[in-house]
Amino acid sequence: MHGERVAVVGGSIAGCAAARALRRAGAGEVVVLERASGRLQDRGVGLAIQNERYAELEAAGYLDARMPWVPLARRPWVVRDGARREGREIASMPFPFRSYGWGSLWRELRGRLPDEVDYRGGTVVRSVTDGPDGAVVLLADGAEERFDLVVGADGHRSTVRAAMLAAGSSVSAPAWGGYLAWRGTLPVEQLPRPAGAFPEDAATTVAFPGGHMIAYRIPGAPGGDGGAQVNWVFYATPPAHLAGELADPRTNPSAELTSELTDYQHALVERFFPGYWRDVVHATPAESRLLQPIHDAVAPRFAQGRLVLLGDAAAIARPHTGSGALKALQDATVLGRALLEADSLPAALAAYDAERAPVGRAILELGRSLGRAQVLRTPDWASLDQRSFECWWQENSGAGVGGRPLGS
Ligand SMILES: Cc1cc2nc3c(=O)[nH]c(=O)nc-3n(C[C@H](O)[C@H](O)[C@H](O)COP(=O)(O)OP(=O)(O)OC[C@H]3O[C@@H](n4cnc5c(N)ncnc54)[C@H](O)[C@@H]3O)c2cc1C
Repeated sequence: MHGERVAVVGGSIAGCAAARALRRAGAGEVVVLERASGRLQDRGVGLAIQNERYAELEAAGYLDARMPWVPLARRPWVVRDGARREGREIASMPFPFRSYGWGSLWRELRGRLPDEVDYRGGTVVRSVTDGPDGAVVLLADGAEERFDLVVGADGHRSTVRAAMLAAGSSVSAPAWGGYLAWRGTLPVEQLPRPAGAFPEDAATTVAFPGGHMIAYRIPGAPGGDGGAQVNWVFYATPPAHLAGELADPRTNPSAELTSELTDYQHALVERFFPGYWRDVVHATPAESRLLQPIHDAVAPRFAQGRLVLLGDAAAIARPHTGSGALKALQDATVLGRALLEADSLPAALAAYDAERAPVGRAILELGRSLGRAQVLRTPDWASLDQRSFECWWQENSGAGVGGRPLGS
């Protein structure tokens, strides 16, 4: 880059990483336009990054060891089995991941932004128009600003993606996956007994007909008392009469967790969960729960003219893929590399598009495969043993969980 003026729309994970990448690549002025003022609200609360993917991002300078994390090592799968309180383990898979809190990761990324980055919280972008003399960003207060490049890091309902659509690209709306993720967190000290039922390095998965729940420890919430927490995500289809409303892409990424939906989850837990894991769900305070209808989407192109998409604006990955935040960080890393290496801005954007759009499509397909196998068409879990589970895992794309290597 040669001192260009760049706007990054969205100052979340993708936006912060992109701003860093742009400065390193030689952008003259980087302005981050973020709708939220102050701290961003915690999203999924927990996220896990595979150790090898972490190492790549650390080497590239986007993550570092001082960012709070918790080591995870294995993923036991358990089912209810009579009165056995912790259930019966049917199989265990290696799980070489680091877990992070979404809010703390965002805070660390935000805190590492170079001072020269102009991060404007409380700034809403209404529209973006690409043109030969620059891309014009219209703000909600009516002000207009012209940039050499506009980076869309503005999430699932991206205004920048909409601008690409207006410019002739066929971007489809997020597609409903047919099921929900109920999410919750609770302090580790509020875990039920016995403590040994949930080892510290485990991402335990409770499997039941029509769904599963994964639970693992994450670092304490930023600004909280600092104690570690447990994060769980429970997947199942909703009651049929609510499916139409939840399928609306406008409800993505989160919808109201009504008492009806909490009762519905609790009924499934009562029916299918071992006692220990039922108590984990019940011990979770109402204010630390949220509901995420599962949708996915991928933009046909990640770059066009002076516009480029990153993170969820480019492709929404289902949470089982273990790659939402990871993909955002990888997108920024690849964009930064392309901007450094290419001879011109159009060549850099073309190289970025060529490398990352196929990854977005692959992650979309991976998420669909995992959703079918682990929620919509679950196997007879209780009949599986380690060997048959491993075959099922391979057949159903489980090996892809944790994202693709950088540069693949
Ligand atoms: C409920 C939920 C749970 C999730 N759980 C996980 C998880 O467990 N693990 C994982 O890896 N990923 C998870 N994800 C995905 C993860 O949050 C994202 O992949 C990650 O944050 C990277 O997203 P992003 O920065 O591209 O977009 P986002 O985090 O969505 O950020 C987009 C930003 O753009 C801003 N913005 C949007 N429109 C405008 C506008 N017009 N003007 C100005 N600013 C705008 C928004 O305020 C927001 O801050 C979850 C997502 C959701 C919704």
